Amino acid sequence: MSKKIVLAGIFHETNTFLKNETPLAEFEKFTGDQLLAFQGDRASISGFLEVAQHQDWEIIPTVMLRSRPSGMVADEVVEDFWKEFTERVGDRLVDEVDAVFLVLHGAMVSSSYDDVEGEMLKRVRELAKRPIPVFGVLDLHVNYTPVMAEYSNCLYAYHENPHTDAFEAAAASTELLVSAFKTGIWPVTSQRHSRHLFAATLSGTADEPMKSLEACARRIEEIEEAIWVVNIMAGFPNADMPETGLTFSIVAKEGSSEAVERAFDELQKTLIQVRKKPNEAYPIDVAIDEILKKGRYPAILVEPADNIGGGTPGDNTEILKALVASSIQSAGVILADAEAVEILKEKEIGSVTNLSIGGKSGELGSEPITLDLELVSVSDGHFTLEDPHSHLASMAGLVIEMGPTVVVRHKGILIMLTTVATPPFDLGQWRSQGIDPAMFQAINVKSAVAYRQAYKKISDDHYYIKTIGPCSDDLDTLPYTKLTRPIWPLDELETV
Ligand SMILES: [Zn+2]
Repeated sequence: MSKKIVLAGIFHETNTFLKNETPLAEFEKFTGDQLLAFQGDRASISGFLEVAQHQDWEIIPTVMLRSRPSGMVADEVVEDFWKEFTERVGDRLVDEVDAVFLVLHGAMVSSSYDDVEGEMLKRVRELAKRPIPVFGVLDLHVNYTPVMAEYSNCLYAYHENPHTDAFEAAAASTELLVSAFKTGIWPVTSQRHSRHLFAATLSGTADEPMKSLEACARRIEEIEEAIWVVNIMAGFPNADMPETGLTFSIVAKEGSSEAVERAFDELQKTLIQVRKKPNEAYPIDVAIDEILKKGRYPAILVEPADNIGGGTPGDNTEILKALVASSIQSAGVILADAEAVEILKEKEIGSVTNLSIGGKSGELGSEPITLDLELVSVSDGHFTLEDPHSHLASMAGLVIEMGPTVVVRHKGILIMLTTVATPPFDLGQWRSQGIDPAMFQAINVKSAVAYRQAYKKISDDHYYIKTIGPCSDDLDTLPYTKLTRPIWPLDELETV
């Protein structure tokens, strides 16, 4: 008889330090068969579907809610997900369904729940009235909790940041579900918090500390027979909850706690050897001087404090101001400013408007700048990813909507104004507007790590720039109240 697998997803990275709440209206909602239409995409849900299609499974698609990173999620989102889920599964979870597969981010916080995913996992088991098998996939920036471990069998986190492997991670988790059905061996998950907290700029897997930790994880998976999966979860520092930070989880055969504890010890030992604090970022003027001196173009002005992939508004103008005042001949800047787009898109191409742009969100560090702007182009802001392995595919699929978009020019600076803040993870964002980003001397990129997959193709010269914003690398500036202390590097650890 074919196995019945319930499929659902809830995906959001919540920056709890932002002012604005994220309502249900901000989420894309897919229900029933719409979930099956993801097949062929590169998002994580497609990884599940790819493996599932070769099994004798009946998929019961329920609901998926997803939105790009932003502020605290309204409780209505959680309850809407749960209502759809229960309506579409009903009592079948009690005696009919064989397993549940969940597509999760893992760092979602709502007004009432610090750990939305943990709450959902708990409700699934309660609704089933039995320890129904739960498998799924997580983003590498999950703030993993003991509740998530207790109420699931196998949640598999991405190995890569930039997240080029969302599809593969979901497929791997699904393969493990296939083998659990075959062998009848159902794994359990253990977790250990590392008591370390890393800025987003340190969560790239090509660099330390993630590089050595991922290598150590793969080694353990290979050596220890009882261990199925070792997850290194960097955590998302911009969410204030007790479990924020870097956590390890291990999916293993029941009764293998000795091997699991040994593995946790080895991971922790590795972490102590390779941990580091963020490099000192450049003041923008110093970076511009150095770029002009070196003469290697384009140089990337990376701005982690306004990291759109971390939920920021993408409207900080500090770098644009410095570029305007500098002797840089050509530069590219993308700002999210729906109001300015509304005004400019009605103007004649080639006309010049004096307008205040950017800095309208009211978030930390946001201040507008007023410039004479020549209108270059107007578009619907719709583009297809050039790189289907782009980090953006993991969160939004292959077709990206920036909303109505205009490109304006001030001296040699091209400024793209988008309606929706769009993480700069694919060069199609520029080329769709008829602009070759390789021709600039400098490009302002509002990201921490995930931009690299795209921008390394056109530049080796990347400068981390110090600006003020809600995703600053300087974790000492974040007003944590719920975070469990002590945690390194905010505190010294006595025992590690
Ligand atoms: Zn992530």
